[in-house]
Amino acid sequence: MQELEERIQSEGTVKEGNVLKVDAFLNHQCDVRLFDRMGAAWAEHFAGKKIDKILTIEASGIGIACVAAQHFGNVPVVFAKKAQSINLDGDQYVTSVYSFTKQKEFPVIVSKKYLNAGEHVLLIDDFLANGKALHGLIGLCREAGASVTGIGIAVEKGFQGGGDALRAEGYDIDSLAIVDAMDPATGEITFRH
Ligand code: 5GP
Repeated sequence: MQELEERIQSEGTVKEGNVLKVDAFLNHQCDVRLFDRMGAAWAEHFAGKKIDKILTIEASGIGIACVAAQHFGNVPVVFAKKAQSINLDGDQYVTSVYSFTKQKEFPVIVSKKYLNAGEHVLLIDDFLANGKALHGLIGLCREAGASVTGIGIAVEKGFQGGGDALRAEGYDIDSLAIVDAMDPATGEITFRH
């Protein structure tokens, strides 16, 4: 998606440790019109596929998924919660995810009420790096007996390999911008096409 690449080029900053900051429009301040066009792009890619629900993970995925849902017949959006500690009462699906940005493992939960067997789920997230967050969401769907119809990602950092590994597993991933390389010294960002 050319518009997203241009926004990353003009407003993104490259930090040490392979972190791309796009707080100006995606992760802190939200450009809702951009989110809307991202939703339209995913809807075009996944046209004709059955999607009952969108699943994302807090926090940055929520806004993007909610705006995108309007392009999928206003299906419900469920966001997996990142818990500090788990109080297992049997009403939740729980998995553990290693956070790339926070560099620690934390539990991720979804209430059993909101993820059901037989549902066709579209996963949406802001970033795809090593694929840990997505593996967590896929695991929650598996536990629930729901199937993953596809995955919509705003920014994939292709050089970290998570996306290619998931594609090799057979997942249909639509990443709207794929960063091939980025240099914290020069700030240069190159994209895969
Ligand atoms: P993964 O689990 O694929 O390694 O990393 C994806 C998750 O980490 C996303 O949910 C996102 O919140 C965060 N993340 C990974 N890399 C970046 C990055 O370069 N910039 C930002 N803002 N978030 C990132």
